[in-house]
Amino acid sequence: MEKTASILWTRRRGSWRSGISLQRFMLVVGAPLFCILLLCAVLYLHTVNRIEQASTNMVLQAGPQITRVQRSLINIENLKHYLSLMRFTTDERSARRAYIDAWSILAESVLDRFSNSNELFYTMLYNVETMWSARQELDDAQEALFRAWYQVYSDAELAFVREGANRIRLHEFRPTHSAVYNISETGSDELREIMDGYRTMFTLECRTRNSPSAGCSRLFASIGTFRSALADFDRERAEFTRLSKIIDSDVETLMGSLTQVEINGFVEEITDIASRTNQSKLLVGVFIAGFLAFALFLIAALLIIVRPVTRMAESIREFRAKGTAPKTLPKSPILELQELQSVLPLLFTDMQSEKERNAEMTVERDALRSETLTDPLTQVANRRALELFKRETGGAYGQIVVMMADIDFFKKFNDTYGHRFGDEVLREIARAIKSQIRSRDHVFRYGGEEFCVILAESDEHVAHEVGTRICDCVRSMKPGFLQNCPTKLTISVGVSTARRWSGQSVIDELIEQADQALYVSKRTGRDRIVSYNEMQNAGSSPK
Ligand code: GH3
Ligand code: MG
Ligand code: MG
Repeated sequence: MEKTASILWTRRRGSWRSGISLQRFMLVVGAPLFCILLLCAVLYLHTVNRIEQASTNMVLQAGPQITRVQRSLINIENLKHYLSLMRFTTDERSARRAYIDAWSILAESVLDRFSNSNELFYTMLYNVETMWSARQELDDAQEALFRAWYQVYSDAELAFVREGANRIRLHEFRPTHSAVYNISETGSDELREIMDGYRTMFTLECRTRNSPSAGCSRLFASIGTFRSALADFDRERAEFTRLSKIIDSDVETLMGSLTQVEINGFVEEITDIASRTNQSKLLVGVFIAGFLAFALFLIAALLIIVRPVTRMAESIREFRAKGTAPKTLPKSPILELQELQSVLPLLFTDMQSEKERNAEMTVERDALRSETLTDPLTQVANRRALELFKRETGGAYGQIVVMMADIDFFKKFNDTYGHRFGDEVLREIARAIKSQIRSRDHVFRYGGEEFCVILAESDEHVAHEVGTRICDCVRSMKPGFLQNCPTKLTISVGVSTARRWSGQSVIDELIEQADQALYVSKRTGRDRIVSYNEMQNAGSSPK
């Protein structure tokens, strides 16, 4: 246990971190737990399958087995009946018949089954046979006893009657019907009592005389024979009783044994099913315990892994939204997460400085971009900006107007007043153009003293209006250095319009057409607006 704990729990020397290694935790706890659960599930399925098989077998075998048990019980009942008849009936034919029937039931049972009860059947066969012999011996002894008794009775009658003895007294010693025919204990006792009576009478009638008569002598001899027959009868009866007890005990044993044999199969199968059911219970128990352990494992994982990770993600999101790093993070016992938590503030710092640098760069880039796209002299967009405009604007406009404006005789102006003042004029004219257009319109310095103006969502009429305003504005311009000079500043304008913006090529085409109109404007007197479309409608050619 201590070893496992030390495997899971690690303290790094010289470091603030102390906690569980997630990787080791998964390997040491998670993997064996998962294997146990898997093994339990497989064993459980196997056991359930075996229980199902055993139950099916038992159900299939139940019918024939119950029939066999019923047949065996009927056979035993019959056997008991026949044995009783064989032993106690006075009718010899019935006794013989019963003996044969009992014997055939036992013989059939020996042939019928091949179980450990066979030995018992053989013993019973032998005992029944011995019993039958004993019954015959007893019958013979009984017959001999009857004969002896009859001899005694007739001799007594002769002796006592002839000697004048009391006849009435003799009749007192006549045996009853049951004493003669019943071979039970009672009958023989009755005969013994009668015999004692004869002996008393003999003593009274014969021994008291000085010389016994011939009748008395015969009676004496027949009493002797009777006593001997009675002794034989008693012996045979004792044997008969002994064998009867053995047979009774055999039947009892057979009863128990047969039932046992028949139910043994059931018991074995039921025991098997019970033991497998216990096994499956154990497996289910282990499975549930494993499942609970796994659930605890997951809860622990949720608390010590998922929660800190979620909080870390939240803090990163917060940082992105507000730009400020969270002050504290929940401390995790997982080493790997501690590692991550330790680098997170560094990441925040890096991200913060990166963000600041990006902002600076954006400002710089915007400045650079505007510098690149702005004409430094006039502070309006330059030719590069026009190219960008053509590429980026796309289909933002419907109708569009392109005006090309060129300062008239500017070379001469430069020559007269110098480039410095020429530059000043360029700046003034750019300002004048800007002042006459809307914020959604654009002005570009196209060439040296040439400007390109693009009016969004405008038609020919608007173009003329705006162009006239620009021309008027330039014409009325009077920079300081020109206060006392008669020189007039004018511009010539060429206009072209398109009904619909349809790509970059439209602007190029419109510039070309406006340029042609500008050429016509220059040729026809300058300080005016010439429309390419009107030119086309009038059928005049720039040439
Ligand atoms: P036109 O009426 O036919 O246009 O006559 P123009 O003299 O203006 O002829 P052109 O357009 O050919 O002349 C352009 C002149 O513009 C040439 C050049 O001296 C002048 N120029 C071009 N760029 C600048 C500039 O940046 N500053 C100054 N001061 N002058 C420029
Ligand atoms: Mg020019
Ligand atoms: Mg010019």
